[in-house]
Amino acid sequence: MSSTTQLSSESRSQYEAKAYAAASAESPLAPTMIPRRDPGEHDVQIEILFCGICHSDLHTVRNEWSAAMPTVYPCVPGHEIVGRVIKVGSAVTKFKSGDIAAVGCMVDSDGNCAECQASLEQFCSHMTLTYNSPDIHLGGVTYGGYSDSIVVKEHFVLRVPSNLNLARAAPLLCAGITTYSPMRHWGVTEGKKVGVVGLGGLGHMAVKIAHALGAYVIVFTTSPNKKEDALRLGADEVVISRDTDQMNKHKGSFDFILDAVSAEHDINSYIRLLRRDGNMTLVGAPAKPHAVAAFSLIFKRCSLSGSNIGGIAETQEMLDFCGRNNITADVEVIPIQKVNEAYERLLKSDVKYRFSIDMASLKSQ
Ligand code: NAP
Ligand code: ZN
Repeated sequence: MSSTTQLSSESRSQYEAKAYAAASAESPLAPTMIPRRDPGEHDVQIEILFCGICHSDLHTVRNEWSAAMPTVYPCVPGHEIVGRVIKVGSAVTKFKSGDIAAVGCMVDSDGNCAECQASLEQFCSHMTLTYNSPDIHLGGVTYGGYSDSIVVKEHFVLRVPSNLNLARAAPLLCAGITTYSPMRHWGVTEGKKVGVVGLGGLGHMAVKIAHALGAYVIVFTTSPNKKEDALRLGADEVVISRDTDQMNKHKGSFDFILDAVSAEHDINSYIRLLRRDGNMTLVGAPAKPHAVAAFSLIFKRCSLSGSNIGGIAETQEMLDFCGRNNITADVEVIPIQKVNEAYERLLKSDVKYRFSIDMASLKSQ
């Protein structure tokens, strides 16, 4: 960590941080140096200890979402960040040097609009993503958590319950909140029949959280070898989604289904498993649009919706919920030098169930 001088928020002074970046959609991630702003009066500077690898990192690095969110290169991904506070601005009240702190998918929003006033910063039209958003401080785009440090406005910095292991807590900042928020919104409570489609990073968090909320949880997976794990993680049943007989048994019975699949698949085969007025929420964001059969929704007045991470207050609520219930991700901790290999394994659904990068490995780079 390079040393910094105390500067006001108006200053554009900056320092260099170590990071891993992709230079283009075809390039592997490689070591680089990036600018970070010196902390202003409302900022918290964090030494990053762990950063989870989300499939959104891979979609962005490879510019798979070019239609909605084209990637600007170099791209430094990473939005499941846990670290230690090393400096705070003069107006910061919630954090002090030495505290453990976390950052998720957002680092700013306008604070004034109806969405921000409702604590739904994720829907603010001026929301700044942790990476690949215009950087209002330094120009260019924001750089994410595959780095040794980050500087973030206090409002967007979260507290991690002290009983949680930090490598395992990092994925809560995206996978945790992205699954917790729609389940709370759609009333997942005790006794509700809940489906989780895709047992990856998001899916396995959804299973743990739905189970802790008291739901009856059924996992839909394309990977028969994940069955034992799904049950261990808290599922009550597992359905191999390519087996039509197994799927048919559940027709018209689900209150809520969360789809956390990263690749193209048929969503109609899940919608028809909903009961009257049931809801299916998409959090998975494959590059190619889904085809929706109108009748799959019409016959039981079902709804299909989407959900984007969660607001800051709700993210803190989720972290505290996970603290109380001792919920963290199942992780494979890797050094940053293995990140490209990890991406290839992510594409093969070969991760149990989240990679968490130990950022100490970046020091030796
Ligand atoms: P992940 O760990 O790679 O998990 C995706 C899972 O989808 C896989 O484990 C696999 O589960 C299933 N899957 C993969 N390919 C499939 C295929 N061809 N057909 C059917 N199922 C397939 O990814 P993740 O990090 O959990 O992210 C999942 C998706 O959510 C990504 O698209 C990501 O960008 C998106 N996301 C959205 C938000 C949001 O706010 N909405 C936030 C974060 C991430 P099985 O082996 O069990 O079948
Ligand atoms: Zn994510």
